[in-house]
Amino acid sequence: MTAPPPTITLTDIRKTFGTLNVLKGISLTAHEGEVISIIGASGSGKSTLLRCIPLLEVPDSGTIAIGGEVVRMKTRAGHPVPADTAQVNRLRASFGFVFQNFNLWAHMTVLQNIIEAPVHVQRRPRAEAVAEAEALLEKVGLADKRGAYPAQLSGGQQQRVAIARALAMRPRALLFDEPTSALDPELVGEVLRVIAGLASEGRTMLIVTHEMAFAADVSTRAIFLHDGQIEEQGPPAQVFNTPQSDRTRAFIARHLNRHST
Ligand code: ADP
Ligand code: MG
Repeated sequence: MTAPPPTITLTDIRKTFGTLNVLKGISLTAHEGEVISIIGASGSGKSTLLRCIPLLEVPDSGTIAIGGEVVRMKTRAGHPVPADTAQVNRLRASFGFVFQNFNLWAHMTVLQNIIEAPVHVQRRPRAEAVAEAEALLEKVGLADKRGAYPAQLSGGQQQRVAIARALAMRPRALLFDEPTSALDPELVGEVLRVIAGLASEGRTMLIVTHEMAFAADVSTRAIFLHDGQIEEQGPPAQVFNTPQSDRTRAFIARHLNRHST
């Protein structure tokens, strides 16, 4: 029996913005069910790396494969661009992306936010989308908020809606970019608990976070990014407790201190 293809395969991804060399050759494979935490200083390239996976940023070079399917590229005016927009749209739909700032539609209720893409993009029957949205709201602990508008919710509640909205697309993997960084400290826990629940369901996830204890707890692998390169990666027990690199050790010490004060 052959193993299923990896969910995400990045090979030697490079990305510059003008003269700024942001990703300097990143290779990374995420298998189904893996929960990979990505840590690193501000500016180290974490968001850019995450955004390259669903082609929200287009790498200058390197290859991206989703479920073993390589994203086809071509060159236009000297720049790499996806060769097949339909392929990119199809592969992009395999991901649920949760951002720091929730990005809910302010003029829509919680329920409308969740069913919008399933109904209008995926063309699923409205009744089915509503039933699934209700189950997802139950899962994130917000069953009573289906008719509320985002402005009527706390940041933690808005982020839980954003997670439900991402799940409503039935993604094969979830990408989280600092999902709790915009929250007041007392609201962080309720969001982390939802994400931890998803991890324990065996969902494939990449999580950029500064919550070291959480990352150590839920991930199957941790990656420390430094200046556009993977400085260290391994089982969380190693990366967080016995890091091999001085830079990793210093970074983790700084962040553990920050949260224990
Ligand atoms: P991180 O998420 O680790 O803080 P980012 O990937 O957001 O890092 O950014 C890495 C570097 O790339 C930063 O110096 C940032 O200012 C720069 N950068 C990110 N996106 C863009 C962009 N669209 N245009 C120009 N520079 C960018
Ligand atoms: Mg970032």
